Amino acid sequence: QSKSSFEEKIRFFDPTMQEAVSKRLLLEEDIRRGLQAEEFIPYFQPQLNDIGQATGAEVLARWAHPQHGVLAPGVFIEVAEQAGLIEQIDLQMLRQACQQLAAWQREPDTAALTLAVNLSARLLYLPNFVATLLEFLTQSGADPYRLKLELTETMLLDDMSAAIARMHELREHGIRFSIDDFGTGYSSLSYLQKLPLDQLKIDQSFVRELPENSSSLAIIKAICALADSLQLEVIAEGVETEQQYHELLDLDCRYFQGYLFGRPMPLAEFSHWLRANQTTRPFRFPL
Ligand code: C2E
Ligand code: MG
Ligand code: MG
Ligand code: MG
Repeated sequence: QSKSSFEEKIRFFDPTMQEAVSKRLLLEEDIRRGLQAEEFIPYFQPQLNDIGQATGAEVLARWAHPQHGVLAPGVFIEVAEQAGLIEQIDLQMLRQACQQLAAWQREPDTAALTLAVNLSARLLYLPNFVATLLEFLTQSGADPYRLKLELTETMLLDDMSAAIARMHELREHGIRFSIDDFGTGYSSLSYLQKLPLDQLKIDQSFVRELPENSSSLAIIKAICALADSLQLEVIAEGVETEQQYHELLDLDCRYFQGYLFGRPMPLAEFSHWLRANQTTRPFRFPL
C-alpha cells in the first residue's frame, strides 16, 4: 500500500467512525476520572446453596457516574480493557471486597459469607498482583478462604504456565478459584488438571435454555459429572425460574445464582436481602 493511498484513507476517513473514535476517547478519559474519584463500586448478587441459604455473593462492578447514574459493565468494560484501565477497576473491586469480607467476619450472622470477584486476564499477569492482593487481605484482615477469584477459560490460554504459577501462589495463601462462563471457552479440558481450582460456574446460556433444550441439559449434566469426578464445586448462574432451579437440583448442582434469588444490589440493599432471606430462615421464593 502506497503512502498516498494511506493518507487518502485517513483524509476520507468515515466521519461516523471518527465520531466513534472520539466518543471512545472521551469515555476513556471519563473512566480515568472515575477511577481517581473512586466511582467504581461493588454490587452484590446472592449465591445460595441447595438448601436455600446464602453462602455469599458475586461482586459485580458498577460505575456510580455523577451525570449518568449507575452504569453496568457493558458500558465501560470493553473500553477499560482496551485502554489498559481494567486492572485498576479490578483492583478497586478487590480492595472493597476484602474490606467487606472483614466487616462481615466481625458479625456472627455474616461471618461465613464468601465473595467471588471477577478478574481480567491482564490483572493475573501483572507482576505485583500477588503482593497487592495479599496486602489488601492483611490490611483489611479478611480471611483469604472467603475470597474466590473468577477467571474465564479464554483468559487462561494467553500464557497458561504463567497463569498456573500465579494461581498456585495465591492458592498457597488460601484464595480460591472458579472458572466463570464454563462451557463456552471451546478449549481443551486438560487444563482442568493443571489448575488449582475449586469451582466451575456453568454459563448462563445453558441455564437459560432449561428445561426445554435437551442439548443444554446434556451439557449441564456433563459439567456436573466432570466437576464431581474432579471434586470441584458447581454453581449455576443465570437461574431465573423455579423450573430451572429444580432441574438443576435434580442434576445435583449444589450452588445457585440468578435473578430468581436476587439481582446484583448495592451493599445496603444486599444487607437487607440477607436479613430477610438468610439469617432467620432459608430463602423463600418471592412468588
Ligand atoms: P459474569 O461474571 O458472567 O456475571 C454474570 C452477569 O450476568 C452479570 O452481569 C449479572 O448481573 C448477570 N446475571 C446474573 N443473574 C442473571 C439472571 O438470572 N439472568 C440474566 N439475564 N443475567 C443475570 P453484569 O453485572 O452486567 O456483568 C457482566 C460481565 O461483566 C460479567 O459477567 C463479567 O464478565 C464482567 N464484570 C463485571 N464486574 C467485573 C469486574 O469487577 N471486573 C471484571 N474484569 N469484569 C467484570
Ligand atoms: Mg463472574
Ligand atoms: Mg458468567
Ligand atoms: Mg460473562
